[in-house]
Amino acid sequence: MARRRQIFEGKGKVLFEGPEPGTLVQYFKDDASAFNRRKSGIITGKGVINNRISEFLMTKLNDIGVPTHFVRRLNMREQLVREVEIIPIQVVVRNVIAGSLADRFGMTEGTPLPRSIVEYFHKSDELNNPMITEEHITAFGWASPQDLDEIMSLALRINDFMCGLFLGIGIRLVDFKLEFGRLWEEDQVRIILADEISPDSCRLWDMETNEKLDKDRFRHDLGRVEDAYQEVARRLGILPESGPGDLKGPDVMQ
Ligand code: UDP
Repeated sequence: MARRRQIFEGKGKVLFEGPEPGTLVQYFKDDASAFNRRKSGIITGKGVINNRISEFLMTKLNDIGVPTHFVRRLNMREQLVREVEIIPIQVVVRNVIAGSLADRFGMTEGTPLPRSIVEYFHKSDELNNPMITEEHITAFGWASPQDLDEIMSLALRINDFMCGLFLGIGIRLVDFKLEFGRLWEEDQVRIILADEISPDSCRLWDMETNEKLDKDRFRHDLGRVEDAYQEVARRLGILPESGPGDLKGPDVMQ
């Protein structure tokens, strides 16, 4: 890790300067935090699993034409990504009532929504990621109405695709958070998917038992946190039956 210049350290990842201009190396840590860092801990092996899960999902999204920052996985904990200017918005897509939506409206967690809801939050830990509307986003110059159309359409396509993918492995995609960035190519700017998609940023429930297979196990001390992350990877076919100790080979197992 010392060989590269560190650009940024976040809660779950570190960004390093990449091997060529316009690239970054994204390193996945085992550190976990919740409630805006008021709770923190370690989920052993999480970084390795999230690196794989995010690689898997971003590759599939790339395949269906969703532009992402993912280039390739470098090793157990690192992936090469394209450097983008992060748009300071967290885009949350919800299919089932849970988390802050349930709290805000006093609604029962687990109720399916008649249609998917997209919410925006300003990406700012200092301000505790306040919820925002399109009005704030355009008035404060974070994104134009055209950018927002593009973000909304990408978010819904990603949701449709991921709902189907998880349904196929017996998992309900309750909600998830996305981040987008701007990529300059010659004199054109494109909006592409950035950050990660993993059980840190998604709520994933077993279809039959409603067991939580995501970071809520850590947030609410539900136990078997490591098992939940491994179970998602195992069902996606990217973790051998015998566990993460076997994740040594260079080939993605699919
Ligand atoms: N989420 C995230 N990072 C955040 C806030 C939320 O990845 O800083 C994810 C979270 O894991 C969940 C979805 O976004 O899948 C919706 O989160 P919610 O608004 O319910 O907030 P929470 O109660 O999880 O903080």
